Order: sequence, then structure tokens, then C-alpha cells
Amino acid sequence: MSGTSWGRYPQPHDQRLLMLRDRDAPLPDFTGTALPHGNGRSYGDSCLNSGGTLLCTRGLDRFIAFDAERGLLRCEAGVLLGEILDLVVGQGWFLPVTPGTKYVTVGGAIANDVHGKNHHVNGCFSEHVAGFELLRSDGSRRWCSAHENADWFAATVGGLGLTGLITWAELRLQRVRGPWLNCETHRFGSLAEFFALSAAAERDYEYTVAWIDCAARGAAAGRGHFICANHAPAADGPRPSRRRLSVPFTPPLSLINRASLRAFNTLYYHRQRARVQQALTHYEPYFYPLDAIGRWNRIYGPRGFLQYQCVLPPAAAEAGMGELLARIAASGSGSFLAVLKVFGTRKSAGILSFPRPGATLALDFPNGGPATFALLDALDEVVAGAGGAVYPAKDARVAGARFRGYFPAWQSLQPYLDPKFSSSFWRRVTE
Ligand SMILES: Cc1cc2nc3c(=O)[nH]c(=O)nc-3n(C[C@H](O)[C@H](O)[C@H](O)COP(=O)(O)OP(=O)(O)OC[C@H]3O[C@@H](n4cnc5c(N)ncnc54)[C@H](O)[C@@H]3O)c2cc1C
Repeated sequence: MSGTSWGRYPQPHDQRLLMLRDRDAPLPDFTGTALPHGNGRSYGDSCLNSGGTLLCTRGLDRFIAFDAERGLLRCEAGVLLGEILDLVVGQGWFLPVTPGTKYVTVGGAIANDVHGKNHHVNGCFSEHVAGFELLRSDGSRRWCSAHENADWFAATVGGLGLTGLITWAELRLQRVRGPWLNCETHRFGSLAEFFALSAAAERDYEYTVAWIDCAARGAAAGRGHFICANHAPAADGPRPSRRRLSVPFTPPLSLINRASLRAFNTLYYHRQRARVQQALTHYEPYFYPLDAIGRWNRIYGPRGFLQYQCVLPPAAAEAGMGELLARIAASGSGSFLAVLKVFGTRKSAGILSFPRPGATLALDFPNGGPATFALLDALDEVVAGAGGAVYPAKDARVAGARFRGYFPAWQSLQPYLDPKFSSSFWRRVTE
């Protein structure tokens, strides 16, 4: 129970942590404002409440019921997605939407309305939430679903924890034949190639995503690996290693610098010799490659890092991504694993849900002080100019006016905000 966020920037100050354990109990007494906190896998300050209280939900970790015939699961909000998979995969079920880490709580997944590599097929997490109980600071409880209290449902999915505490939820799972996926990896040399591969794969593949070499410049700019996959009918396949490495301490300086970045990206790009490669892969390394290294966020040193995830609308996607990548490569900053994906057209019910039609890019930047912030401000100019948006779950620094431009419906959330709930993020972007 750390009460921090994954990017370790900003560091919260004067924040009280209260552990919740009983979903039927009233909220504990607190002074000032409170904010639900899941597993702190948001990168910036949307899961922080400096000067206030965090209602830590990992103690709400019970399964309530599982209908293995229909794939309906009821569980408390602090259950991790990984714990759900441990329970259901062996019984032929899977999460219909999963982000790139399994260390995310159900409450956190709902409050950020997370997306995965199959957005073009299954939309956002909330599409598969049959309902949840919302507990407000006045002690009232309401069941929210697409049919009952639908306005509260729309405010709370993607609502950044500001409408109340989700105590438990019912999820609709997806049938699978086993834990393996048939994966196909295509090496590509340009953004134009990426967009063509993605458009062609959308029809036949449930999962599509690309890794982009964000350090490449000139003729190599926009190169990467495009990975598409489907759940496999295989009865057996390679099992993931049980060994989990961990970064044991925070080095005094970030290990990510211009030289290590270029070297890693170049090696990674060339690790696949063939243009196309096929493999049967277990879901763990496929969906959660970073989870194999515990506390990997420490490699960025004591100042932490910032993730930047944006979406650009279809008409501006290729040119805009080219512009963003050029600015990033010229800065010499960026990350080992920059991720590029084309979202589908399915619209989430959530007022503040981030995914929308277009292409999304996500990458990490070591916190290098003013130079990093100036670079991210410059990226914002491109994103705002193209009519795009930045993902609040990853953000720690976007200016209030920018946020309000990215999410023009933000004021529609006002009637649903719990008067005693707030977050560092919300104060930063709205006050
Ligand atoms: C390696 C990595 C990969 C990721 N990949 C993706 C990805 O592919 N797609 C994606 O969408 N996201 C991705 N994320 C972000 C992550 O999925 C989200 O930030 C997620 O919401 C974190 O959940 P959490 O349980 O850690 O919640 P926290 O980060 O602790 O909180 C997130 C939000 O949920 C609210 N909240 C938490 N619990 C409750 C509750 N019980 N009731 C009401 N509100 C609550 C909090 O107030 C906060 O606003 C990734 C993160 C990491 C570290």
C-alpha cells in the first residue's frame, strides 16, 4: 500500500491512506477530500490526492460468484485482473478487454475505462461491465449499469474515481479454448506500411498493436514490428517462465539515456530477421511483457518518468504520428517500447473515456526536468492541432486548458462528482 503512481512523478505529499476491507461498511471518516486508489498503475496524478485521503481498495479482494456456464463473474473492486485470469482461464474464459499489465484492479479498470489491443473488436472495458455498486460519501449506494442508473454508469466509467467508490462489479467474460494465442509479427519500415498492415489485419485479427522504434530518424523513421494475434484452439503450447526478475533498488540516475535508447531500439528492430514470423504464445508474455520484470519503473531513477499517450483522429493520424515521432527522435528522449495502435470506431458510454477513432501512441520519457516538460508541451501542440487527446490515466502535467480542449464534455461530469471526492489530477486540470 504505497499510495504512489507508476511513473513516480509527481510524488504525493501529505496524503493519508485508509485501507478498505469490507464492501458493506460505510466509508471511513476522513477530513478534506478522498479518492479511491486501486493498485497505483496509473502513471501520473489521477490516482493521487495530495493533501487529502486515499481510500485504498486492495483489501476489497474477494470473488463473490462465478457462473462458469455463462461467463459472469462478480467480484470486489480491489481484485486484480491477473487474479481473475488465474481463476477463469482454466475454465475456458478470458477478459474481453485487458490493458498491458495484469496488476490493475477491477475498480481502476472501470474508472479509467481501460482499453487493450482489441479495441477495434471489443471496445473499452466498460462494454463488458454488466454493472457495479457505487457508494457515495453520503452513504447512498446505487447499482449502475447500461440500463439502470445509466447516467451514473456513463459518469463513472472513465470517471477517474470522482463519482464515488465502486465496491463490487459484475463482468461478462469471453470464451477461449485455452491460454495460447497464434501471433504473427511483421517487420515494417515506415508509418505508411504500419497503417496498411493495421487496416488489413483488423478484419481477421482480434488483437493488433505495433512497437515503434522511436529513436529512428531519416529513412528509418517510423519502422517497427506489427503484431497481430488471435486466441488459439491449441490444447498445449509453450508455458511462460515462472521466474520473475525484479529491479531491486532505484539507481541514483535514470538508466535510460540517448545511447541506451538508440542501442536497444536498433537491436530490438533487428532481432527478427524474417519479414513475417509466426509463433504460438502464452497470454502472459503476449499481453503483459513488462510484468515479467517487477518494479521496472525504478530504472528511471529517483526523479521518475512520464508516460505520454495520445490519440489522433483518422484523417490526421499518419501525418500527425510522423510529426510526433520526428520531434521525439530529434529530442533524443523516449522509451524502449513505444506502442502504436489503431483504435476502432466503437464508442464507449463513458463521458470521459479516452479511446476514440484514430491512432494512439504511448511511450515513456525519463523525467529530465524542464527539457522534458517543454518537449511534451510541444507534442501537445501537435495533438491539439490535430483534434486529438491525451490519456488522463497516463498524464502528470498537461495544462488545464489543454485537458478541457481534449475532453470538451468534462463539465457534464460535474453533477455526478462526489462533493467529498477529488484528485491531484482533477484539481490541476479544472481549477
Ligand atoms: C505497464 C502498464 C501498461 C498499461 N497498459 C495500459 C493499456 O494498454 N491500456 C490502458 O487503458 N491502460 C493501461 N495502463 C494504465 C492502467 O491500466 C490504468 O491506469 C488503470 O486504471 C490502473 O488501475 P489501478 O487498479 O492501478 O488503479 P489506480 O491507478 O490506483 O487508479 C486509477 C483510477 O481509478 C480510480 N479507482 C480505483 N479504484 C476505484 C474504485 N474502487 N472505485 C472508484 N474509482 C476507483 C482511482 O481514483 C483513479 O482515478 C497501463 C499501466 C501500466 C503500468
